[in-house]
Amino acid sequence: MASLELSGINKTYDNGFVAVRDFNLAIQDKEFVVFVGPSGCGKSTTLRMIAGLESISAGELYIGDEKMNDVPSADRDIAMVFQSYALYPHMTVYDNIAFGLHLRKVPKAEIRKKVFEVSRILELEELLERKPKALSGGQKQRVAMGRAIVREPKVFLMDEPLSNLDAKLRVQMRAEIAKLHKRLQATFIYVTHDQTEAMTLGDRIVVMKDGVIMQADTPENLYNSPANMFVAGFIGTPAMSFIDVEIQGNTLKWGDCEIVAPILNVNARVAVLGVRCEDVHITNNMNQNYATVEAVEMHGADSFVTLNCGQQMLLARMDSSRAKNISGQVPVYIDINKIHLFDKENGKAIG
Ligand code: ATP
Repeated sequence: MASLELSGINKTYDNGFVAVRDFNLAIQDKEFVVFVGPSGCGKSTTLRMIAGLESISAGELYIGDEKMNDVPSADRDIAMVFQSYALYPHMTVYDNIAFGLHLRKVPKAEIRKKVFEVSRILELEELLERKPKALSGGQKQRVAMGRAIVREPKVFLMDEPLSNLDAKLRVQMRAEIAKLHKRLQATFIYVTHDQTEAMTLGDRIVVMKDGVIMQADTPENLYNSPANMFVAGFIGTPAMSFIDVEIQGNTLKWGDCEIVAPILNVNARVAVLGVRCEDVHITNNMNQNYATVEAVEMHGADSFVTLNCGQQMLLARMDSSRAKNISGQVPVYIDINKIHLFDKENGKAIG
């Protein structure tokens, strides 16, 4: 069983900087969990504490039923894949993959069998005699993955493993990693700052900011029910539009615009309205408001239209075929069933 439990985990570095604060998370056996957040939010530090590469300042870490705080990294039954791949440059691909097994004194014939098996899974068979400098970025990344897989750990830890690859290869390797997870039936914990990578890979995503968990949830829930403005703005491309509104009964007002929300359990007089671009429609149907087109950005089939709506910015997504003819004043409909409201002071979701 490779479930993990992180309970009240804190990390204070020697200089007094608190990088991770009161981190609580239970990870299930075979789950794919992604830590995501902006640079410096503490994702790598948390992963390194799980790996045993960084000490835990306070709190408890369990892998299965065993407390791991003071267990050396090598005895944790985990394998880590780094952004830099960390391959041995003087060794062939075969020896790089086999190295960990040699250290553990696994018999040669068994090593050979395992290396070939892993090479087949990762399509490295043709490259076994090469040294890392004769490999492309994607191939090096696969070797690094092979070195982790061959050890058959219960938990895989991956720290931005795709960030050195070009955009196309990243998408390809992302699919490979998802397949590997299904095939290996192991627990994966994956660090990235790329929310698209997080959304496509994770069973569950932990969004972090300044060393604190902002929300830990499924991709769907993060997208549809963000707990606060940070998550709402971080998850989803392009980012959600935020509009300062006044609340009068069920009506939300700003500038010369207003919308009527279905049910509103809010005491506040002011709030921040959050709207995703797919919920803004430039249409005469059920029109309530007018906006001015400020910019149209074409992205293939879809275009993103920046609107000035009651003196605040609102982004709309529409078919590029329609968007190219759009300009000036346009009628705007916001889907009131899809809106989000946030507390203006603390950014938490309300309503
Ligand atoms: P990135 O995406 O840039 O790698 P991250 O979310 O993984 O960021 P961490 O590497 O975990 O962030 O770092 C969290 C914070 O801790 C950062 O502000 C970083 O500067 C700080 N930090 C990291 N290592 C040390 C250290 N050895 N001593 C002091 N502070 C550190």
